[in-house]
Amino acid sequence: MIHKGGNIRLLLQTFPSSSSLIFKIIKPMDDIFDVMILGAGAAGLTAGIYTSRAKLSTLILNEGPVGGQMVLTNEVANYPGVETTSGYQVANIMKKQAKEFGSRIKSNVKIIEYQLESEIKKVILDDGRTFQAYSVILAPGGKPRALNIPGEDTFRGSGISYCATCDGEFFTNKEIVVVGGGNSALEEAVSLTKYATKVTLVHQFDHFQAFEHAIVEAQSNPKIRFIMESSLLSFNGKNNLESVTIKNNKSGEIFNYPAHGAFIFIGYLPNTQSIKDLVKTNDRNEIITNEDLQTSITGVFAAGDSIVKKYRQITTAVSDGTIAALGAAEYITKIKKEDKQEVVV
Ligand SMILES: Cc1cc2nc3c(=O)[nH]c(=O)nc-3n(C[C@H](O)[C@H](O)[C@H](O)COP(=O)(O)OP(=O)(O)OC[C@H]3O[C@@H](n4cnc5c(N)ncnc54)[C@H](O)[C@@H]3O)c2cc1C
Repeated sequence: MIHKGGNIRLLLQTFPSSSSLIFKIIKPMDDIFDVMILGAGAAGLTAGIYTSRAKLSTLILNEGPVGGQMVLTNEVANYPGVETTSGYQVANIMKKQAKEFGSRIKSNVKIIEYQLESEIKKVILDDGRTFQAYSVILAPGGKPRALNIPGEDTFRGSGISYCATCDGEFFTNKEIVVVGGGNSALEEAVSLTKYATKVTLVHQFDHFQAFEHAIVEAQSNPKIRFIMESSLLSFNGKNNLESVTIKNNKSGEIFNYPAHGAFIFIGYLPNTQSIKDLVKTNDRNEIITNEDLQTSITGVFAAGDSIVKKYRQITTAVSDGTIAALGAAEYITKIKKEDKQEVVV
């Protein structure tokens, strides 16, 4: 028997025929969603808006609060068409849109098993619930790598930032510290001189791990001072960040250094721990996709900060979510068309 569509419930219509029976697939099982989106940040919510608006049944599962990194952002000033507002507000509008078009959203879930290879994709939660879909969009996002030193949790969002594009303007006419020695740290240090009166770059080694042009540009900027071979030990202050404690790694000298703000660029961690062995990832555990944001598994797409890309912003996550959703919609149309074809046995 030729049989397409995995677990699809076959509502069998039997037609008399001289030598064969004809089976027709009429509708999928109610508990199989068209699309399952893993992650409800900017990328996942956008994908949900597009797929549910296209009348595809859509389930969004999120391992944290809805909104992802957007809800960590005090002010979003660079999202086109939206006047400066809180990240929480932008996230809430996206969530409302996705729900109004019909997306079902379940937040704070814990997924313990992924079965993505077969035509019907399945995930199992820690409470035993199982969800299935024809297509999956991975949108687990990520987080900037933290220093994990005293004071970092206290001043995160009120003095400490991991995003110059997002928060640089808040430090206009202030003195700030930038931590890191790669391209991001050097480029962002230069961009922060547009706002800050003084930028001090603290780096643990005596050399940078960056392109020559980035090093030259930073070194020739009169507003940037360098403290090399040194590490931050703590962030200090009462209500706001006032200083950082720095240790010279060579001499062992420890000193306090004034800072109204600190920007940390020591890498980025994608939230792909649980899926990195399922889909192809690079050496930084970022999901590898093609230009249509298709992953190494048929019917599985990926979007947002967790994929291999250079710029991580709400706008880029939204763009990815759109592309992945349109790809998933096209894929579903194709497999449903194949499934609907009458099969002669
Ligand atoms: C402090 C800060 C300020 C920023 N400010 C700005 C700004 O002003 N403007 C701007 O454009 N960008 C800003 N950014 C960057 C921007 O927020 C991100 O690039 C964007 O929100 C990423 O969206 P995302 O959907 O890819 O991922 P995320 O926002 O990280 O969302 C992913 C979601 O998926 C969940 N999840 C993780 N793993 C799983 C899993 N296995 N299954 C299901 N769910 C999972 C997570 O809990 C999370 O809720 C800022 C970032 C930070 C950290």
